[in-house]
Amino acid sequence: MNAARAPETAPRGRPLRVTVLAGGVGGARFLTGLREVAAAPPRPTDITAIVNTADDITMHGLRITPDLDSVMYTLSGVADTDRGWGRRDESDVVSSELAAFGEPSWFTLGDRDIAVHVLRTAARATGATASQVVERLCQRFTTGVRLLPMSDDDVETWVELDTGETVHFQEWWVRLRAQVPARAFHLRGIDACAPAPGVLDAITGADAVLLAPSNPVVSIGPVLAVPGVRAALAATRAPVVGVSPIIGGRPVHGMAHACLSALGVPTTASAVGGLYADVLDAWLVDAAADGGLDGTTVPGGHGRVVAAPLLMARDGAAAVAGAALDAALGAASTPSRAGQGAGHGAGQRPAGRPR
Ligand code: GDP
Ligand code: CA
Repeated sequence: MNAARAPETAPRGRPLRVTVLAGGVGGARFLTGLREVAAAPPRPTDITAIVNTADDITMHGLRITPDLDSVMYTLSGVADTDRGWGRRDESDVVSSELAAFGEPSWFTLGDRDIAVHVLRTAARATGATASQVVERLCQRFTTGVRLLPMSDDDVETWVELDTGETVHFQEWWVRLRAQVPARAFHLRGIDACAPAPGVLDAITGADAVLLAPSNPVVSIGPVLAVPGVRAALAATRAPVVGVSPIIGGRPVHGMAHACLSALGVPTTASAVGGLYADVLDAWLVDAAADGGLDGTTVPGGHGRVVAAPLLMARDGAAAVAGAALDAALGAASTPSRAGQGAGHGAGQRPAGRPR
């Protein structure tokens, strides 16, 4: 896409459509920033988030959708931002009672959070789809973003450990804290799953598609593996721009390096960009830590590498999201963000698709 095409893909009179592929906490923070950018004049913007559901798990008979709930709780302002997961003002009466019965207690669930899982499980048992459950939950937890699960079909990430044992991703991540080396990830159910209603249209009908700085292996990876998603990203006329979750050779939070090393992929912004090489028009790396990559090409692809402020705690989530939108559409297409790295990206050419 070039600047001259921007009015064609986003005609005046209808909102700009931005679609984001996201995991849990990193995706949620990025979406908060994007929502802030979108709320500023001059351009009304509709945001759709396609959220990973491959780290879903059934615990105590309850179906739990951690990434979607993280995004929903964060955007609706009920998340426990200090702890980094779950809801604020939580209590743990139910978890304590279950533990007293000898039930596994490594996956902590607060009482308020459990109410959501009870509602989801009950609705699914009577035939509601995952998408319908999200819609119902978002009637109460208003997010300002259209939230779509990647699929209505159950998909689960299982981790093959170096010991030969295979455990659910949550057991590896939460109980084992990713301390036991992994040698492979298996996305159970992925080949047979279908994209949830609206997912492919949200990609092909977008003006910009952004890959949030989420875990490349267990958050963005599963979304890209949903049949049809990668093809839709390759086919869409919208520029596709990714944001690196790796800054200066390390994940900003969490243990993404333990996931990458299982794949034999170095924990670098450049190597992670390479995982998305076939779909990226631009790849954002942190200006302070990885600025030397600016202007290079994503390994194995045609996307250009753009240095931008990428640390949400330091630069503000709106500056990070704004930089991604600038890289997609050109600085002129996005609202000014005075005091939040305004002008960053000004004069840059929008991401181009050489065809
Ligand atoms: P999870 O599903 O809750 O683990 O969350 P995500 O997969 O959405 O996000 C986790 C990733 O977010 C980690 O790999 C972090 O490196 C990344 N991350 C967290 N904060 C920041 C930030 O401020 N900037 C960037 N660039 N990445 C971040
Ligand atoms: Ca996750």
